[in-house]
Amino acid sequence: MEVLKLQINDNYLNLKDSYLFSTIAKKVSQYKEKYPEKKVISLGIGDVTLPLCETVVEAMKNAVLEMGTKEGFRGYGPEQGYGFLKLAVMNYYKDRNISLDENEIFISDGAKSDLGNILDIFSQDNTVLIPDPVYPVYVDTNIMAGRKILYMDANEENNFLPMPDKNIKADIIYLCSPNNPTGAVYNKNQLKAWVDYALDCGAIILFDAAYEAFIQDKDCPRSIYEIEGAKKCAIEFCSLSKTAGFTGTRCGYTIVPNALIFDNTSLNKLWLRRQTTKFNGVPYIIQRGAEAVFTEKGQKEIKENIKYYLENARIISETLSKMGIWFVGGKNSPYIWLKCPNNMSSWEFFDYLLENANIVGTPGAGFGKNGEGFFRLSSFGNREDVIKAMEKISTIK
Ligand code: PLP
Repeated sequence: MEVLKLQINDNYLNLKDSYLFSTIAKKVSQYKEKYPEKKVISLGIGDVTLPLCETVVEAMKNAVLEMGTKEGFRGYGPEQGYGFLKLAVMNYYKDRNISLDENEIFISDGAKSDLGNILDIFSQDNTVLIPDPVYPVYVDTNIMAGRKILYMDANEENNFLPMPDKNIKADIIYLCSPNNPTGAVYNKNQLKAWVDYALDCGAIILFDAAYEAFIQDKDCPRSIYEIEGAKKCAIEFCSLSKTAGFTGTRCGYTIVPNALIFDNTSLNKLWLRRQTTKFNGVPYIIQRGAEAVFTEKGQKEIKENIKYYLENARIISETLSKMGIWFVGGKNSPYIWLKCPNNMSSWEFFDYLLENANIVGTPGAGFGKNGEGFFRLSSFGNREDVIKAMEKISTIK
């Protein structure tokens, strides 16, 4: 019998292994083995640490009980999400004078899935433009599809906020504000420049707003749709992960405006078709919890948590400023992106900080070539640890 030769998607072979977090874990465990008496503080975590707020827990408990009754039981739900949650998201946008149609909102199990899955509706022949340093998902999902990737430099000169370059043409542009890993945030004028550029050259912007809830400055948009024309050129990805502690609970939403017409085709219709074919929706119980996030009480409670993280970020920023260390972020974002002192490389500074201050952070080099020489600190830890870490860091030379 003829033996067939199954072919794999060999684009996967072009993916680079990421050793960033495994190397960090290995170095920390070696250090702890050598110095068991030392307390190591982690400012490297990208996960939240505060528990779900009371209103969310209550809503999920009620939904569980409802599911246990004959009348309240629900099986498959709408793939795009229940009307009650879409309505809550619509009102959340309405408060910022952004009007959305219900069918423009797609409830997801988080931003990461949708950021990857959205690529299904675009041709492999498109070129993508991605900032460097970057949240690695944008790069890897495009490598998997075999798309051509162009990088734009985020660096000290542009405060890690790259702006459009008329000489560079790409079909799909990734923007993330507030940014992971840099914590940098675009203001209105800067985002307007990106929207104008995308409209001029017929590109689509994939706008990652996973950290929008951390924005406090009125001049920094929390949604790209605060910019005129954006509904014609941008898809927005949002998440309750960092906003409301849903990293383990899993819920987000993606906005695909009806005005997005490319190649004479509605992207909203394509995405709906993709979702109804490949996705069976977010659990009812989780969607009830997510709905509670948008109630007045839920908003009050999650804002308390965000305030807590932002205060941690302020304490870290203040210490770095006093030490004369260059950094961005930390104001409208949970991340602080600093320049390693004394021209140390990212990994040299990692070792130095671990050995001299017993603090763990994330080497910037792990997020792209422009991250070399930079370092990410996160404010998702607890207050006492942040204060202790800053006391220690300020004593190092
Ligand atoms: N986008 C950015 C920039 C992130 O940093 C993260 C998570 O760390 C995500 C998206 C993924 O969020 P989610 O938990 O909703 O999948």
